[in-house]
Amino acid sequence: MALPPNVSSADFNRAIAAWKQAVGNDWVFTADEDVALYRDAYSPYWGEKEERVASAAVAPSTVEQVQAVVRTANQYKVPLYAISTGRNLAYGGSAPVYSGSVVLDLKRMNRVIEVNERNAYALVEPGVSYFDLYEHITKANADVWIDPPDPGWGSVIGNALDGGGGWTASPFRDHFGAHCGMEVVLANGEIVRTGMGALPNSKSWQHNRWGFGPWVDGLFRQGNYGVVTKMGFHLMPRPEAMQTLTVRVPRDEDVVPLVDALNLLENQHVVNGSTSLGGGGAPGGPAGAAGWSVSLPIYGPAKVVPAQIEYSREKFAKIPGATFTETELFRTPLDAATLARVRKVSFGIPDLSTFGLLGRNAANPSPPGGHMDFSPILARTGESVLEFIRMYREKLPELSEGGTLRILGPVFMTNWDRTMVALLMFPVGRDPQVNGRMRNAFRRWIELCAERGWGEYRTPSVFQDDVAKAYSYNNHSLTRLRETIKDAVDPNGILSPGRYGVWPKHLRKT
Ligand SMILES: Cc1cc2nc3c(=O)[nH]c(=O)nc-3n(C[C@H](O)[C@H](O)[C@H](O)COP(=O)(O)OP(=O)(O)OC[C@H]3O[C@@H](n4cnc5c(N)ncnc54)[C@H](O)[C@@H]3O)c2cc1C
Repeated sequence: MALPPNVSSADFNRAIAAWKQAVGNDWVFTADEDVALYRDAYSPYWGEKEERVASAAVAPSTVEQVQAVVRTANQYKVPLYAISTGRNLAYGGSAPVYSGSVVLDLKRMNRVIEVNERNAYALVEPGVSYFDLYEHITKANADVWIDPPDPGWGSVIGNALDGGGGWTASPFRDHFGAHCGMEVVLANGEIVRTGMGALPNSKSWQHNRWGFGPWVDGLFRQGNYGVVTKMGFHLMPRPEAMQTLTVRVPRDEDVVPLVDALNLLENQHVVNGSTSLGGGGAPGGPAGAAGWSVSLPIYGPAKVVPAQIEYSREKFAKIPGATFTETELFRTPLDAATLARVRKVSFGIPDLSTFGLLGRNAANPSPPGGHMDFSPILARTGESVLEFIRMYREKLPELSEGGTLRILGPVFMTNWDRTMVALLMFPVGRDPQVNGRMRNAFRRWIELCAERGWGEYRTPSVFQDDVAKAYSYNNHSLTRLRETIKDAVDPNGILSPGRYGVWPKHLRKT
């Protein structure tokens, strides 16, 4: 049995015994074959000594058990790493950021506490997956949609806490942004409810997000200040219809007015779907083709959506040579035949087909196994897109080692409100030599982007320190503020040390 760092075997054995007492013998895992299940299948350090691995795992099923587990960890100073369903592939899987931590696995806490159709919200526990919530809503015949990310097996809470998003309408597809109220167990075992939930017998926990006084919920997004045991989410009342307009513009430089028109329409909330920008102007676009395209899905009443499409066309028509195509007007709920030919997640239906794209298929018979997402945020302008492309073309020969390292992208993602992400994907697998070269390239991209004022919004756990260091304004004052809070609420530094670059005092600079 592996030991957590700086914990004696006597203390660890006492902690294990206390956890068995609290959650039952069957739910404390110390055998190598059990603990191995928490390895990150996409780890860029797979099989190397730097791979982040757990020492054990414990799986409570109630909030009282979570409190007991955390109190014991605090007593013996055992680092914990909380996961919900632990499917955080491409960002660290279910492995801890700090090797040797004990995984606090919350997937047994899988109760849908409430689905309220009238006010369109849900209150769930961490182990509730998108599939679970979808099934619950379908069985209850409630006329509301969930917003799934591409993989439906993830946790509604876990995905939101890591800064994840989905593919239906704004504001629902920004998952943390769509939450309303949370329950958190702090490092000392105390339970806190945020927003209106702090009112005993609250009748409006999921009706008002801000409550009274300083809003603390943001501390728990990509944070390590508590273990979230419940969270409310606003749901979308089922939209009657959806239609997508695609605009094509002929010249590479047309991306400037194209993005301006896109921004206007999204900021006016005329276009509310998850838009995407692509085409020949991007390095990954069709060879020899110039120009750009943007797709604009619009969700809403069947009478209104065609008018919004028409209004959007007028805005783009000012770009010389712009051409348009439209999909049919999809009316919901879709029938089975229609469902079979659309991207399900765009219609609020969880799915796993995304893995078919990157997994083994006819076009890709021996895939590397995994990938790391590199996602810097640019300014949402066409000029930034062109600047990124210039840098990409200039640096790629060096960073792809003369084209021998296959880095995928860039994909210019406009799925986040007001945000432009220039996504690159770095395939990794089981070859330490290739993985090492990919890691070097990834770190170099972080530096290159930071030099230009572009930072990432989410990153695999092994690069979280590198990215956090890039956010260095005023001698890293933001990191220092986060550390001050960490020391106050978790003085023994037992909760997810190192997550998103925030380390407890005793582990800083190691
Ligand atoms: C092919 C592919 C496609 C993907 N597509 C998307 C996509 O469309 N959108 C997207 O957002 N992501 C996507 N991902 C990334 C990832 O798989 C998902 O975000 C996934 O939902 C995250 O895993 P999870 O939900 O099980 O969260 P978890 O792994 O349970 O949680 C994520 C992290 O949050 C923290 N955490 C979790 N629960 C708690 C808690 N209760 N208390 C405190 N901290 C906690 C932990 O640090 C944990 O590591 C994709 C990945 C792949 C490989």
